[in-house]
Amino acid sequence: MIAHIIVDVPVSRTNRPFDYRVPAWLSPLIQVGSRVVVPFGPRKLQGYVVGISENTEHGVDEDRLKDVEQVMDDTPPLTAELLKMSEWMSGQYLCPWVTAVQAMLPAVLKGKAQKWLTASDQLDERICANSGLLWELLRKRQLPLAEVEKQFPDEYMLIPGWIHSGLITTEYQVKDRITKKQQSFVKCLLSPEQMMEVLGSLSARADQMRRVLELFLQHPADSFSIQTMRDEFGVNRSALKSMEAKGWVAIEQVEVYRDPYANRRFVERKKPAFTLRQQEVLAPIIRSIQESSYASFLLHGVTGSGKTEVYLEAIEHTLAKGREAIFLVPEISLTPQMVERFKERFGADVAVLHSALSQGERYDEWRKIIRKQVKVVVGARSAIFAPFQNVGLIVIDEEHESSYKQEETPRYHAREVALWRAKENGAVLLMGSATPALETYALATRGRYTLLEMPDRVGHRPMPQVHVVDMREELHAENRSMFSRLLHEMIADRLKKQEQMVIFLNRRGFSTFVMCRSCGYTLNCIHCDISLTYHKSNHTARCHYCGYTIAQPAHCPECQSEHIRFFGTGTQKVEAELAKLFPGIRVIRMDVDTTSRKGSHEELLSKFRQGQGDVLLGTQMIAKGLDFPRVTLAGIIAADTSLHLPDFRAAEKTFQLLTQVGGRAGRHELEGDVVIQTYTPEHYSIIHATRHDYPAFYQDEMLQRRRTGYPPYYRLVLITFSHEDVPVVIRGAHVLGDFLRQRVASTTILLGPVASPIARVKDRFRFQIMLKYRDEPNVTELLTQATAAFEEWNKQQKVLMTIDVDPYVLL
Ligand code: ADP
Ligand code: ZN
Ligand code: ZN
Repeated sequence: MIAHIIVDVPVSRTNRPFDYRVPAWLSPLIQVGSRVVVPFGPRKLQGYVVGISENTEHGVDEDRLKDVEQVMDDTPPLTAELLKMSEWMSGQYLCPWVTAVQAMLPAVLKGKAQKWLTASDQLDERICANSGLLWELLRKRQLPLAEVEKQFPDEYMLIPGWIHSGLITTEYQVKDRITKKQQSFVKCLLSPEQMMEVLGSLSARADQMRRVLELFLQHPADSFSIQTMRDEFGVNRSALKSMEAKGWVAIEQVEVYRDPYANRRFVERKKPAFTLRQQEVLAPIIRSIQESSYASFLLHGVTGSGKTEVYLEAIEHTLAKGREAIFLVPEISLTPQMVERFKERFGADVAVLHSALSQGERYDEWRKIIRKQVKVVVGARSAIFAPFQNVGLIVIDEEHESSYKQEETPRYHAREVALWRAKENGAVLLMGSATPALETYALATRGRYTLLEMPDRVGHRPMPQVHVVDMREELHAENRSMFSRLLHEMIADRLKKQEQMVIFLNRRGFSTFVMCRSCGYTLNCIHCDISLTYHKSNHTARCHYCGYTIAQPAHCPECQSEHIRFFGTGTQKVEAELAKLFPGIRVIRMDVDTTSRKGSHEELLSKFRQGQGDVLLGTQMIAKGLDFPRVTLAGIIAADTSLHLPDFRAAEKTFQLLTQVGGRAGRHELEGDVVIQTYTPEHYSIIHATRHDYPAFYQDEMLQRRRTGYPPYYRLVLITFSHEDVPVVIRGAHVLGDFLRQRVASTTILLGPVASPIARVKDRFRFQIMLKYRDEPNVTELLTQATAAFEEWNKQQKVLMTIDVDPYVLL
């Protein structure tokens, strides 16, 4: 028996299946989709079986093939569909096949988790008699497979057969599962300067303390669990205890987040009587679900129009057909509220995949899917790879969200993968948004997706009143505060009425750079060409790309002036200003700093929900999916910061953000106001957002895209090169660029090589080539050839090259 196997060597030369012989003892276990260990050159590698045949192809002598050494799982983790999908992704996104496969599997299956043997209940007496001791042990307890291999080498060879006939099972046991609800966290009590000082005075033997301090210099605001300290940084409790005794760190008992649904029973919730509009929208969706044939819909509905109820109903009909449903949400809107709505409706049929789960918990959810214990998966981007066998519906909520695009290899877009999967399965694809991506809406207007509109809020609740404030006029009126007079007034009003508000800052720390007022010197990262961001809590400046952190200098390194300080507005600064202007105001700040610990995101939200805060203050993070009945004011500070990004989607993103934030206010009985503060009130994205007018925005923005040659009129491929030496990276970029230039269609535009907008990251210089094309049917094939030519040149050079098809991040 021959197995065709792709191996975990992600370069294009090895991007094809290799043949291995299957030894007889493994043949009961191996299947297409199995994960295996095979010898490859001098190494042992993980691989995946993509085909099995009785004989070798092309008359190769079977005896010359190497043997498969191990089959890793009792049942293959890859279904036939996922395997096919991974092959398609490899072609579509120009990544190694094996990389696409790995993106589909939970991290546990890539790590070094221990595997254990468990005897099943019905032991066969005959086998027990044959292999006495091992079975006696197994009857008492589970055994680690590695130990069995050592102690019982003969029986070890029989294990695949036993698994095959159901006598035993094997499974991974993941240590990271959190069993305790209380955990000890360590946090640093020293300022960065003090840390530097202590570091200088430590004896050479105080290795663990040094590591702790270096860690806190990098992450001054964070806490680390004692477990993490031990497992990841090799620091034991006694070292931490003596640091605590010296007053350098504090060890605190912290309530940790665990599966918040584990000990809850949900009361089944009845669905509402649908509005007329919801019925109209549901009719064609349900018809397609009944027909079990491919269909795709774009549900364009304002926030609060009842889209989620439509999704839930569609899922119910899918389950009634005996099929399964995948529901994708952007990571950030995978809130307990959202999950609750699913649990209330579908109970234990739901698996939830979100990033706050530990690896072990994720693996558990994934196994529920592959064992067919659930019928619905709710999750972020990668949930599109749920190993269901009979997908009947894929819902993508907030389909315009850029988090559906993966920014590392494989650089896939979940919407595109979903489309493939829906077609492959004869399933329904239902995308929803209040502000569809231009690409999606354009396809819908051309009939590729059925367009369904829900222009009104449920129960005719009015859209919030939007007020645009021109901040230039505020300045003329001598108001130098970051709050306009109108916003100030409205905040005071809500405080008096005890209503809640959200205040939204475009991008965390976007312009909180440190600059010298005397000479104009700015603090930049020494590894990356971007400015450092000021963090008030510990007076440090930090690079958001590589984590490089320094203490805020007291004097300008350039001219020694004392007038060096931070500029611009970060969430911390807004918080400070609110406290100053409204004494006693209770602010809950949500940004990357306050939500880095697992579960903190949910904790802060539930505090706000319980009324423990007047203001929810934050970045992008608070713009989406939240539904708080008592919020009647949404304030947007510096609405236009996102307009000035070097990104052709800047206007679209601004429109989306303003619409989303506006949607947070007045969703329930109380009516709401939205205040948009801007320096460019005349910009069309701001004008149309004010009027809740998506179609008008779409028209204007499409004109721009046509004029500038960007999607949806053109498609893009971004190729980025990086290396420590400028001449080397330029040469590499030219090798690939020249190859392409000679071969692309005359209508295709090839830009570059030029330095990337961020020209250096982590001491590597970056160059890029951009391909803009309309009629280039074989673009992936062309790029594959170009990659091969480049890799030939690159053998000695080690230039890193990435290809991003339909890129979102153009930096
Ligand atoms: P969207 O997903 O479009 O923002 P939701 O589905 O969350 O809208 O609905 C907004 C609010 O209206 C929710 O509180 C929801 O429970 C309620 N709602 C939705 N449909 C109905 C209906 N047919 N009758 C009564 N309330 C509804
Ligand atoms: Zn200076
Ligand atoms: Zn950096």
